Amino acid sequence: MSVKAKKYLGQHFLTDENIAKKIVDGLSFSNYNKVLEVGPGMGVLTKYLLDEDAEIFVAEIDNESVEYLKKHYSKLKENHFIGDFLKINIDGMFDEQVAVIGNFPYNISSQILFKIIDYYQQIPEMVGMFQKEVAERAAAVPRTKDYGILSVLVQALYDVKYLFTVHENVFNPPPKVKSGVIRLTRNPKEGLAGNEILFKQIVKAGFNQRRKKLSNALKVLNIPESLKLHPFLNQRAEELSVEDFISFTQEWKNS
Ligand code: SAH
Repeated sequence: MSVKAKKYLGQHFLTDENIAKKIVDGLSFSNYNKVLEVGPGMGVLTKYLLDEDAEIFVAEIDNESVEYLKKHYSKLKENHFIGDFLKINIDGMFDEQVAVIGNFPYNISSQILFKIIDYYQQIPEMVGMFQKEVAERAAAVPRTKDYGILSVLVQALYDVKYLFTVHENVFNPPPKVKSGVIRLTRNPKEGLAGNEILFKQIVKAGFNQRRKKLSNALKVLNIPESLKLHPFLNQRAEELSVEDFISFTQEWKNS
């Protein structure tokens, strides 16, 4: 018996074993002993993860998939099943570093990425498959249409590598869009620590009106008097690098 794909859970099961193996090979398995897989479904990635020298945890919301996994992968014990990824408290659940992997449910892609950012201190590495547009947005560089809030917030904390594209016909049922696999390697940029909240506010406000110059887009945050002639304010958000956003945040904080 296999699991019947449920659309409302974003279930598209990967059917290509070589691609599954390639995704798992994207993890380095160094500097951590625990790996959390999000949305394992019928375990196409899990099977390769369980061959590795690491303790594997699975966050799966679908009871039918959980039953399937328990039946087919005896290495997974009761305490390795942790339910809805969006609801778990990662620092309460893991007392050490944990890498994250998954062929993620696409309906909650951005929420998954934002959760990883929120817990970056515990997550040294992530390898994941997203719809291609989301993968590209996470990896985007300045002055492109994909470069936005997601790119800047992710890249402030992680190096992002776009690994490869996956065609829709290797899934059952096939999704409507192509997929992209990316790897995040934790590498928090200097100058961010202690300024995270203001940084997020500036990035969000800047891109929320991305066609306007920052002098206009950031008005909602009451730009400090001493920054009013800052050259960045004559530019649009998409023209600033991640480092520019961080240095601007520091100047704002010190103003
Ligand atoms: N990894 C499998 C399944 C991918 S489909 C494969 O590659 O074949 C996405 C999976 O995410 C489904 O099994 C779905 O039940 C699960 N899922 C959806 N929302 C979830 C959530 N909030 N937390 C954990 N798992 C979730």
